[in-house]
Amino acid sequence: KPQLSNALARIEASPTTAMTDRAMELRAEGRDIISLSVGEPDFDTPAHVIEAAKASLDAGDTRYTAVMGTARLRQAAALHFERDLGIAADPAQVIVSAGGKQALFEAICATVSAGDEVIVPAPWWVSYPQMVRFAGGTVVPLMTYAKDDFRFRPAQLEALITSRTNWVILGSPGNPTGAVYPAAMLLGIAEVLRRHPQVMVLSDDIYAPLNYTGERHATLANLCPDLADRICTISGVSKSHAMTGFRIGFATGPKWLIDAMGKLQSNSSGNPAATSQAAAVAALEGSQDFLADWRETFRQRRDLVVSAINAIPGLSTPVPDGAFYCFIDATPLMDRFNGDDNKLALHLLEHGVAVVSASAFGGSNGFRISFAASEEVLSEALRRIESALS
Ligand code: PLP
Repeated sequence: KPQLSNALARIEASPTTAMTDRAMELRAEGRDIISLSVGEPDFDTPAHVIEAAKASLDAGDTRYTAVMGTARLRQAAALHFERDLGIAADPAQVIVSAGGKQALFEAICATVSAGDEVIVPAPWWVSYPQMVRFAGGTVVPLMTYAKDDFRFRPAQLEALITSRTNWVILGSPGNPTGAVYPAAMLLGIAEVLRRHPQVMVLSDDIYAPLNYTGERHATLANLCPDLADRICTISGVSKSHAMTGFRIGFATGPKWLIDAMGKLQSNSSGNPAATSQAAAVAALEGSQDFLADWRETFRQRRDLVVSAINAIPGLSTPVPDGAFYCFIDATPLMDRFNGDDNKLALHLLEHGVAVVSASAFGGSNGFRISFAASEEVLSEALRRIESALS
């Protein structure tokens, strides 16, 4: 019989991945399925990034690198933190990992012990609570609501802080809601943090370039340098440069934490793939001009999706300010699915659209769709959703 560790027995496989796999199976059976369940841009990886990856292979970049990343990439990532997020980062305080996911996993596993509490705003990105549970910590959900554009207020946070709180996770723009915290709200949150010096902040800024407010991305380590030694900021090239398959992400924060993450990495994956690191250098050092077009395209798709969803009886969504997801409420329709939004998601899959239920994200009565697909594909998917629910 399977002999699972206590740590593994506490977690579940990612439900978003499960839905994507099910959609792929149905497709393999010849069914016409539109997948709006995945979390990756549909754009091509920029050509200069591909060229850099090829050149690195031709140059014989096929060996181990330094565990925490090549000096060149740590330097480029430090530059990225400074240029794009306004966070002064010494390359010695930067770790390169196999995606933002590994960086988050390491930050949590390096610091969370049994009995520690981690405050996770919900609806959450599915892996945050799993990582906390794997480490043995307790997930403390901080519920946010559509009426507040899925953002929590400082008082809500403060009410959940105890002497055992060691992290609060703050993702902006967020997945699955697309919520963006403007500077003024972050300053309010900082006031709370100043009263509770035991609490650290895991700031997940991986979607920072995909912000449709027209305002500069706001992030805690930039706004509050006095808190910088308590903040770990996560970034990467997966979402911003359509490089999900390369598996490169970065973290910066206090040196003791970055070193601890490196210790974990040195005994697990080792260095991130050498070719991917060379590609990421090209992504960060090359022109970022293409991002303006991507942002505009995403913004147009968002507007299309939001107005179509809000026109379907029983469905509603606020306007997401960032990332490429819409978090949709279907409460008026839930009787038809016995209150179970997984049934709703399966019903939509039977009608040719793969989505992920809200409950997979710690929400309820709804589902998330990704708008990282062409307008044509999105329009067809929305037609199918409407007819499935009419
Ligand atoms: N953080 C959030 C909120 C995400 O949605 C994702 C990807 O889905 C990640 C981090 C990790 O990205 P990756 O590991 O692909 O760089």
